[in-house]
Amino acid sequence: MAKKPKIAILWLSACAGCDEAIVDLNESLLKTLEPVDIVLWPVAMDYKYSHIHALNDKEILLSVISGAIRNSEQEELAHLLAKKSKMIFAFGTCACYGGSAGLANFCSKEEIMNWVYKDAPTVVNPSGQIPQPKTRINENIELTLPEFYEQVYALDQIIDVDFYLPGCPPPPDLIINAVQHFLSGDLPPKGSKLASRTALCEVCPRNHTKPPRLEIKEIKRVHEYEADPDRCFLAQGILCLGPMTRSGCGETCISVNTPCRGCFGPLPGVLDAGAKGISMLACILKAGQSRNPKKLMNSLVDPAGYFYRFTQPVSILNQKWRRSND
Ligand code: SF4
Ligand code: SF4
Repeated sequence: MAKKPKIAILWLSACAGCDEAIVDLNESLLKTLEPVDIVLWPVAMDYKYSHIHALNDKEILLSVISGAIRNSEQEELAHLLAKKSKMIFAFGTCACYGGSAGLANFCSKEEIMNWVYKDAPTVVNPSGQIPQPKTRINENIELTLPEFYEQVYALDQIIDVDFYLPGCPPPPDLIINAVQHFLSGDLPPKGSKLASRTALCEVCPRNHTKPPRLEIKEIKRVHEYEADPDRCFLAQGILCLGPMTRSGCGETCISVNTPCRGCFGPLPGVLDAGAKGISMLACILKAGQSRNPKKLMNSLVDPAGYFYRFTQPVSILNQKWRRSND
């Protein structure tokens, strides 16, 4: 009997939502994974990293990796799978762009450690101890922890990535489509995103209510205003990132009356998703016609967090900010 191709599935700095999306394929999961031999899937099966070390280089056909990279253990595992795999698949928005974990890049490592281990109101830590990569207990025992890095990285900032599937998490139809591509060998060019190239607005059921010329005089927050469930959010003054976000999510947020937050990432050719969002806002916000433009601008709470929610680590902003702090 011919050997089945080997597949590894790994989570790094992830919330497990991407693994859950695979499990959520339900019965289709059996059919989808039947032709493959899973050699690693920490969230679901008891394989050891030593099994992966024992494989020949490039013996794994495909490694599906979700999550960003924040510590030395995650980096080491990413390099291990890169060595042992023919193809690396960045699965989910954290792996593709850094994801919501990447928002931590707006703080330094020191600020994060101080808040989590010293300053947060619920912390009791009289000695002020902060976890260290190495702690000597006595002459014979030294405990080690992975090193917490200064910043969060997207997967391709650490290893070479062959294909990408954004989504937080990726939807079932695109997962099945991707697996079929890999198993048939019918693959797009390296570096492709296995998702649509069009904007969410183009497939949004509310698109016909979007006026050709949008003007916002007041920014409404979704929890403060009962949105009309059939009308374009932007036409109601509620920020929606559909015009600059790749479609393919299945419009899940829109269908439950929630505006798009951009988890599918930017459209092809966009270098900095956050800058694109700010530019979109500048085009439609009628600040000049407002009696109090400053108040209008301040009504957008946390613009950096809003526009860079999923893409901060790969943004130009992050690179410039890091360089200025070096
Ligand atoms: S992309 Fe979303 S679902 Fe997947 S690990 Fe990141 S936060 Fe979780
Ligand atoms: S802006 Fe949002 S609500 Fe309006 S058409 Fe685009 S995706 Fe739909």
